[in-house]
Amino acid sequence: MLSKKNLHSLFFALLFCTSIFKAQVFKIISNELPEKYQELKKYDTPKKFDFGNVKVTSICTGYISTNNNFPEPVFVWLMQFKDSVFLIDAGLSPQVNSPDYFSGLSAGFFKSDFKFYLSKNNHLIQQLEQLSVKTSDIKTIFLTHAHFDHIGYLPQLKGIKVVLTVKESESVKTKGQLAGYQKNTEKIIDFSRIEVIDASQMKLKKYNSLISVLQTSNHTAGHEMILLNTDKGKVLFTGDIDLSKISKTNKLYRQIEKQVSIKDCVLLFNHGAL
Ligand SMILES: [Zn+2]
Repeated sequence: MLSKKNLHSLFFALLFCTSIFKAQVFKIISNELPEKYQELKKYDTPKKFDFGNVKVTSICTGYISTNNNFPEPVFVWLMQFKDSVFLIDAGLSPQVNSPDYFSGLSAGFFKSDFKFYLSKNNHLIQQLEQLSVKTSDIKTIFLTHAHFDHIGYLPQLKGIKVVLTVKESESVKTKGQLAGYQKNTEKIIDFSRIEVIDASQMKLKKYNSLISVLQTSNHTAGHEMILLNTDKGKVLFTGDIDLSKISKTNKLYRQIEKQVSIKDCVLLFNHGAL
């Protein structure tokens, strides 16, 4: 039987292991972009936009090709105010090329239809460090939706509040893999960290007038776009919805227009050309 003293040491040893686990930073499992796609490499360099009160930077976490089509970059957006930092989305996991990354019902589909190109330059945490951003400085992560290419680094960004719409979180919980989310999405997001999950309940204190969330259900049940008010006009982060390809008569387009004039916004897309 374990003595009280031994139990004590065991407890501290376990605590130590857990803290190591929490601090673990996964390395990229590389799969370099083939020569024919080298033009995409330019996205590995963060692109900076200065909007006066806020600086916005693209961070490329890798590239996805579906059915052997031309690959698309997968961006995370960094918003830096004078005294606060926010992220939009959490990118492609550095482990996405691990043979056991996808499991369950949809594993076959992800493995056969998708190709992921990542190099060490695409590591989100390292790119943040190079931009002099500590993960402990990040106030909130806005998730446009819960697909695998938007939540990849969440396990490495523990302790940071996540904003997701109620509709999207319900869709993950009730439909899961049947709605196209990877197995274990609930675990990856870690629902216990979601303090605010709806735009109407969002409390960002002084940022309330600067950042707002528009629910734009289309790509997924509770997809959201993030609207940013800057000194130089409005910026709309459109997630996975490419507004330049949507007709002005489309229901979603009209729904957004009720809240903001799209033509007056700088549109920043998660996967498109910059
Ligand atoms: Zn996506």
